[in-house]
Amino acid sequence: MTNNSPPVANPAGKTSCCVVGGGPAGMVLAYLLAMDGVDVTLLESHADFAREFRGDTFHASSMDLIDDLGLLEKLDPLILSRLNQLAFTTRSGKSLTMAKFSGMKSRFPYVAIVPQAEFLTMLSEEAKSFPSFKIQMQANVQELIEEGGEIVGVHYKKNDQVHELRADLVVAADGRASRLRKKAGIELITEAPPMDVLWFRLPHRTGDDEQKDGVEIRIGSGTMMVLLGRGDYWQCGFIVLKGAYHDIRGAGLGKFHQEIKELLPVFLHDRIKEIDDWKKIAVLAVQVGRVNKWHRPGFLLIGDAAHVMSPIGGVGINYAIQDAVAAYNYLSHPLSSGSVTDENLAAVQKRREWPTKVIQGIQTMAQKRIVKAALQTNEEFTFPLPLRIISKLPLLNKLPAWVLAYGVRHETIEKRKS
Ligand SMILES: Cc1cc2nc3c(=O)[nH]c(=O)nc-3n(C[C@H](O)[C@H](O)[C@H](O)COP(=O)(O)OP(=O)(O)OC[C@H]3O[C@@H](n4cnc5c(N)ncnc54)[C@H](O)[C@@H]3O)c2cc1C
Repeated sequence: MTNNSPPVANPAGKTSCCVVGGGPAGMVLAYLLAMDGVDVTLLESHADFAREFRGDTFHASSMDLIDDLGLLEKLDPLILSRLNQLAFTTRSGKSLTMAKFSGMKSRFPYVAIVPQAEFLTMLSEEAKSFPSFKIQMQANVQELIEEGGEIVGVHYKKNDQVHELRADLVVAADGRASRLRKKAGIELITEAPPMDVLWFRLPHRTGDDEQKDGVEIRIGSGTMMVLLGRGDYWQCGFIVLKGAYHDIRGAGLGKFHQEIKELLPVFLHDRIKEIDDWKKIAVLAVQVGRVNKWHRPGFLLIGDAAHVMSPIGGVGINYAIQDAVAAYNYLSHPLSSGSVTDENLAAVQKRREWPTKVIQGIQTMAQKRIVKAALQTNEEFTFPLPLRIISKLPLLNKLPAWVLAYGVRHETIEKRKS
């Protein structure tokens, strides 16, 4: 770690908490700590928050937090649409509603579609009103500084110079490919999900079927697509077996158009040709994984850096935010008093590991029983029996929406004085 570090051009800076990564996990944690007056510095490698096809689905748990922080007024104008259900439709027109958000007893009985970049920009601007909040954009963290077995800071590159930042705690919220996870010697244990997703967008036009206010998963002959209305455009995710993109591309755009035409509703057929370049398609190599240990002395992983989520259910942002709230609850007080112990860090893992395992277990089951099964047959898809039972029974059919919205453990701001 320090041995490989390049020469540092600038004198060491100091902060209580150095948060690496300005995604939902890092930004929410930095905001909450700064709100409490904890000296926090957020380092983000990009110049802005814009990313193509990032998670934009804000479930009720995230909306509750935003409301609790008094930021709903700021978020409301950013909401592009409100999705009230998640439903499957097969090619013969059979449908099954898997999660009915509009039936939930919640302040926010829907999934809000909010461009992630705009949410992060809003939060960073709001955080700037807290004197103890500092943010460095285009600050690419290269190395962890380790002394006596403890992580005591980072080296980051900005404007071609290496800077040193010392901290009582370094939080790695640097996403699914986390460099800091590797630098800390923590291994990501991965599963082999059967799918990848090819994301593309089709324009929204006046007169489009305005009734479509949910997430629809359309199942064809060995094909599958997620379709959701974003107000200004339709977001489409063509789900393919893992690694199939290479062959799909080899078969040409004409064949791709035919395949997606079978899945898209008729009112969208007139604009399929807008996908006239593979550059208009973003490939999400679906990964699922998590680490066994989220922390080392002076160091904590949260969000995708600790657990890479499948896109099923669109919960990645929400779990990242829930981690941030739990980390805040356990760490704000120790950070204020300058003594974060390994027990404090272990408490965050203990709190968040179980809900993560549960949702990843559900996602893995859905990947096998629904996605893989649907992609491997050309016959009409038959929904698994448990799903049919759940969707029919009034007492049970509220459960899937609730589990997606809140998970099995809902974090609220409480700031434990641990
Ligand atoms: C194509 C795609 C579609 C998705 N769709 C959905 C969806 O619909 N709904 C949903 O809930 N989730 C979705 N997800 C998942 C969701 O985006 C993630 O789960 C969520 O963003 C994780 O938040 P995070 O803060 O942990 O990490 P990230 O959002 O990945 O943020 C990490 C941040 O760290 C920065 N960073 C990385 N390395 C460094 C470094 N060395 N130094 C400084 N900064 C660094 C990055 O620039 C980035 O800003 C999707 C993901 C992808 C890739």
